[in-house]
Amino acid sequence: MSYNIAIDGPAGAGKSTIAKKIAKEKQFIYVDTGAMYRAMGLYFLRNGISAQDEPQINQKCGEADITISHVDGEQVVFLNGENVNGSIRTEEVGNMTSAISVYPQVRKKLVELQQRLAGNADVVMDGRDIGTCVLPDADVKIYLTASSSVRAKRRYEELAAKGEVCNLAQIEKDIIERDERDMNREISPLRQAEDAVLVDSSDMTIDEVVEKILSLCRTNS
Ligand code: C5P
Repeated sequence: MSYNIAIDGPAGAGKSTIAKKIAKEKQFIYVDTGAMYRAMGLYFLRNGISAQDEPQINQKCGEADITISHVDGEQVVFLNGENVNGSIRTEEVGNMTSAISVYPQVRKKLVELQQRLAGNADVVMDGRDIGTCVLPDADVKIYLTASSSVRAKRRYEELAAKGEVCNLAQIEKDIIERDERDMNREISPLRQAEDAVLVDSSDMTIDEVVEKILSLCRTNS
């Protein structure tokens, strides 16, 4: 049986940073499910399909073949054979992604892929619906959050470090809008699973969060 750690939470809570560190420490595979949804969002953006056009999205999502592999512990996402890691981290793709991830066909396809990965290996998987829907029997479930202003500031610094021109107030507005949509959609909305441990990282360092999760793994091994 594989050992699965599920980390859910809103945009910019630090899920991927924390999940990568845990994966390294435990020598597990890190699965970033947001990147899979982003690759799908990128596909629709590139093909000029509107996020509101549900029939087109349901029909075309079968044409987007999404796979992942790991290179030096980093997840690489392929869209129809192309490595799209360098193209999916923009705010434009993030906003499109949250708009198209409400559709059942999109979710069904990616959830199946995620469940296959977690069945075959020990994983740390992060996303919005991992503890509630993708891996309801995960060994450890975390709901990682932080205040919207702290999350916006972190995202701003991340984008600025990559040289992207950005505006802090706009980022906070986008984050709040994205959370609203992710929390209120009909299928698999973002929410804390009943058996998940709530971790608010607003006033915690990365190492403190990592240690908290590792200690939960120790009591749950
Ligand atoms: O985590 P990240 O910001 O990369 O996710 C981008 C978007 O993908 C989220 O805002 C959410 O709408 C969607 N998503 C999802 N379910 C997941 C992971 C991401 O709906 N498990």
